[in-house]
Amino acid sequence: MASVELNNIRKAYGTLDVIHDLSLAIEDREFVALVGPSGCGKSTLLRMIAGLEEITGGDVLIDGKTVNSLTPRARNIAMVFQSYALYPHMTVAQNIGFNLKMSGEPAATIDKRVAEAARMLDLTSLLDRKPSQLSGGQRQRVAMGRAVVRNPAVFLFDEPLSNLDAKLRVQMRAEIKSLHQKVQTTSIYVTHDQIEAMTLADKIVVLNHGRIEQQGAPIELYRNPANLFVAGFIGSPS
Ligand code: ADP
Ligand code: MG
Repeated sequence: MASVELNNIRKAYGTLDVIHDLSLAIEDREFVALVGPSGCGKSTLLRMIAGLEEITGGDVLIDGKTVNSLTPRARNIAMVFQSYALYPHMTVAQNIGFNLKMSGEPAATIDKRVAEAARMLDLTSLLDRKPSQLSGGQRQRVAMGRAVVRNPAVFLFDEPLSNLDAKLRVQMRAEIKSLHQKVQTTSIYVTHDQIEAMTLADKIVVLNHGRIEQQGAPIELYRNPANLFVAGFIGSPS
């Protein structure tokens, strides 16, 4: 578990400024939803926090320490994407344990942690199946299991449910909420689904053209949007 701090983060792709001097403080255990239109820089921001994208300026701090020069692995951050990218030839158990195996953990430790993660995500009866024998929701739970099993300091979610149908999205939303209540891992969750943001997050951050328009508790933004842009996004009746 850890706090995350962004201090004057900037990102430019060549001459294209994507993130402008952005600062944000996220508390330990907090669940933050990051919302904003397509192309506003949400994925770029997550990738900079994860260490998958070089930062043009500013600092990323995890638990008060600058991590700018640390590799993704050393940052102890797990990322969940919308495409779950499971290994088709491996069982659910092998998929969940794969990262631990790569880190050289002993088999007994891997078995124990895979079993724990499976219990948490209701996957215990599916551990011997292959991904092709799973539903979309079950695959997404395996992808989350792969993240949980590493016991990361921070979870980053990049629109993890956007490939699922509406009914399944509602169900998975509840799964994610319950998972966060169990593990309490600091989470940053990118979504363009305002209901998802309202129901999951302690805090919503509204991003537009690489700048924060407003941040606050869901109800605060809903009741007192700072401007029309936020109102449009959070869907307060006007
Ligand atoms: P979002 O996730 O909010 O949809 P992104 O972070 O993916 O937005 O993209 C933000 C902006 O940066 C977009 O204008 C996108 O075209 C641009 N961009 C993203 N990745 C690259 C890249 N590797 N090279 C150049 N431009 C990029
Ligand atoms: Mg994106």
